[in-house]
Amino acid sequence: MELKTPDQLRQMRRAGLVVHAAIAATLAQVRPGVSTRELDAVAADTIRTAGATPSFLGYGAVEGIGGFQGVTCLSVNEEVVHGVPGDRVLAVGDLLSIDCGAVVEGWHGDSAVTVAVGAVADDLAALSEATRRAMWQGIGAAQLGGNVADISAAVERSVHAEPASYGIVEEYVGHGIGSAMHQPPDVPNLVTRRFGRPSRGPTIVEGLALAIEPMLTLGDPDNHVLDDDWTVVTDDGRPAAHWEHTITVTARGLWVLTADDGGEAALAELGIPFGPLAD
Ligand code: MG
Ligand code: MG
Repeated sequence: MELKTPDQLRQMRRAGLVVHAAIAATLAQVRPGVSTRELDAVAADTIRTAGATPSFLGYGAVEGIGGFQGVTCLSVNEEVVHGVPGDRVLAVGDLLSIDCGAVVEGWHGDSAVTVAVGAVADDLAALSEATRRAMWQGIGAAQLGGNVADISAAVERSVHAEPASYGIVEEYVGHGIGSAMHQPPDVPNLVTRRFGRPSRGPTIVEGLALAIEPMLTLGDPDNHVLDDDWTVVTDDGRPAAHWEHTITVTARGLWVLTADDGGEAALAELGIPFGPLAD
C-alpha cells in the first residue's frame, strides 16, 4: 500500500477540490434535454481551467489506443457505473450518477454523486439517499488501527438498515488512491461476499488514502458490461445509484479530500472527528 506524506496528502486535497468543482459545475447543468456529452464538456472545462488533468480520459488505453472517452462517467438509470458520455439526452425522472477524477501534480482525486433529473419517483430518490448514507457510514467507520473491512461492514449494515431492500453491487469496489487512481487495497461494499473470500483486509494507517464508493440497485445487483466495453448495466434493467469520496485518516480524525468542506458538516452529524492537516 502506498502511504502518503502530509505534503502528498495536501496535494491530494488540491486534486479533490478540483474534482469537487468539476462535479459541482456539471451538476449545475443537469436538466432535461441536456446530453451526457454536453455535461462531460462542462467537467472537462472546469478541470483544465484549474490547471489539472482529467484522469478518466484515455483510462485503460493500451499503447495509447482506445481507453475511456470522457472526463466523467455519466451513468443513467439502469447504468451502474462507467457510462460513456455521448448522445444520450436526459429526461425528467432520470437518475444520473456523475463520477469524476482529476490529477494535480501527479496526485489523484476521485468522487461521484447521484442526482435526480427534475422530479423523480420516490423510490429512486430513496435509492440515491440510501447510497449516500451508506457512503458516509463507510467513511465514518475508517479509523487508525481499524481495518478496511470495518468500512465494508458499515456500508453493508447501513444498506440493510434501510426501510427498503436494495442490491449491493459486489464486482466493483472502492480502492486505494494516490499517485495512481486505482491502488491496493480493495474496499468492498459488503463483507458477506458471494464472490471471493471474505477478508479482514489491511489495517488503516496514517498516509493511506481510500476511495469509498457504494453502488446500490433498486432490483437485483447482478450486472453486465455493454458492447461499448465500458458501461455497466443491471441485468434486470432496474436503476442504480453511486456515491463516492476520497478520504484519508489523520491522527486528528477524518479528512474527506473530495468534499468542499473536507467532510466537516457530514462528519459532525455522525459524531466523527474531523481531522484535516494544517496548511
Ligand atoms: Mg470514481
Ligand atoms: Mg473510484
